[in-house]
Amino acid sequence: PIVFGPDLIRSRTGRAALVIARTTSTFLCSSLVTHRTGPSITMQTMRAPVAQGAATRVAGRRVFRPVAATKVSTAVTTDVSKRTVPTALEEGEMPLNTYSNKAPFKAKIRSVETITGPKATGETCHIIVETAGKIPFWEGQSYGVIPPGTKINSKGKEVPHGTRLYSIASSRYGDDFDGNTASLCVRRAVYVDPETGKEDPAKKGICSNFLCDAAPGTEITMTGPTGKVLLLPADVNAPLICVATGTGIAPFRSFWRRCFMENVPNYKFTGLFWLFMGVANSDAKLYDEELQALAKAYPSQFRLDYALSREQKNRKGGKMYIQDKVEEYSDEIFDLLDNGAHMYFCGLKGMMPGIQEMLERVAKSKGLNYEEWVEGLKHRNQWHVEVY
Ligand code: FAD
Repeated sequence: PIVFGPDLIRSRTGRAALVIARTTSTFLCSSLVTHRTGPSITMQTMRAPVAQGAATRVAGRRVFRPVAATKVSTAVTTDVSKRTVPTALEEGEMPLNTYSNKAPFKAKIRSVETITGPKATGETCHIIVETAGKIPFWEGQSYGVIPPGTKINSKGKEVPHGTRLYSIASSRYGDDFDGNTASLCVRRAVYVDPETGKEDPAKKGICSNFLCDAAPGTEITMTGPTGKVLLLPADVNAPLICVATGTGIAPFRSFWRRCFMENVPNYKFTGLFWLFMGVANSDAKLYDEELQALAKAYPSQFRLDYALSREQKNRKGGKMYIQDKVEEYSDEIFDLLDNGAHMYFCGLKGMMPGIQEMLERVAKSKGLNYEEWVEGLKHRNQWHVEVY
C-alpha cells in the first residue's frame, strides 16, 4: 500500500484528491485483512496514515514520490518523552489477589491490535483493557483472565473455564498514562496437527483466541493481580538485565515505561536497562519501534540486543538463540551482576535450560561454582525467573 504526501493534496485539484482517497482505501483494506482488528481500531488506523511522501524536482518540475506506508500502530509509540502520571498509584502496599475466581473483576476490552508482521511465526496481539483504575497492580505482575464459556471436566461435569495468567504489558499507569487502562501482550495459541501439518481450529487455545479475537467493548473477566517474582528493585541505580523470548517481553515493557517514559517523583531510574529479546525473525519482533526510539533517546542507559533464531547465526554457525546472544556479553553481564545488577527472565519455559547450560559453562570458565553463584544472586534477590 502507498500513500501520497500532503503537498499533493494542497497543490492539485479534485482529481488528485480522488487518487488519494482510492490509495488510502487500499491501505485501509489491507490493514483490515492483515491486522484482524475490531472496528474502533480500524478508525484509529484510518486517522494515522497521513501523508508520507516527498516532493522533489525533476527537470524543473515538482513531482511527488509516494513512499511505502509504515505499519501504523496504536500499541507502539515512538514518543518516549516523559509523561506526567497521577502519583496516587505510588501509595500503599503492593496489590495482590484483589480479585479472585469467585469474585472476579469485570472490565471491557478497548482495543486489540496485531503487533507481529506477516512472516512471524504466530500472531501476537497488544490488548488494551479499560479498568477505570479499579484493579491496580505493580510493574512485573500478572492478571488472570477467565475466558467465557464452559468445559466438561474429568468427572463429566460442566464447569466454567479455568483462569489463564497474562503478564501485564503496561506500567501501572497504562498506555494512556492515566491509570485507567492496563495492557496485555497475548500470543494466539493454535494447534497444528503433527500428522497433517495443518491447523486444527477445534483444538485452538481458548483464552488467547478469545482475547485476540475480541471486538472493542467485549467484557473480560479478570482476577489478580498476582506475582511478586518480577518486581523492580527499590534501588533506582541497579542495572536491569531483562532476557525475554516472545511474549516474555510483556513485563519488561511495563519496566521500560516506568523507567523512561513516566515522571514518577519517587522512582527516578538512573541505572542501565539492557534488554535481550529472542524471537524467530524480524517480523516477530514486538514493540520494536518503541525500543528503537528508547535506544536513540537514551544511548548510554538503554541497550537492546536481538537474537533472531531464523535470521542470525551464532558464533559456531548455528541458529542464534537467546543464550547465544547473552553469551556474547557474558563478561560484562557477570561484572554487572557482581556489582548489584538484577537479571530477569521471562517467556516460554523452554528458554531456561539453554540459558542455564550457557551460564554454567561461563561460570566454570571463570573458576566459579555455578550453583553457588546463582544461589548467591537469589539470596540477594538479584535473580528473577518467570517462565510458562
Ligand atoms: P488452552 O486452551 O489452555 O490450550 C493450551 C494449548 O493446548 C494450546 O496450545 C492449544 O492449542 C492446545 N490444545 C487444546 N486442545 C488440545 C487437544 N485436544 N490436544 C492437544 N492440544 C490441545 N501468554 C501470553 O500469550 N502472554 C503472556 O504475557 C503470558 N503470561 C503468562 C504469565 C504467567 C505467569 C503464566 C503462567 C502464563 C502466561 N502466559 C502468557 C500463558 C497463558 O497463561 C496461557 O497458557 C496461553 O495463552 C494459552 O492459553 P489458551 O487458553 O489460549 O490455551
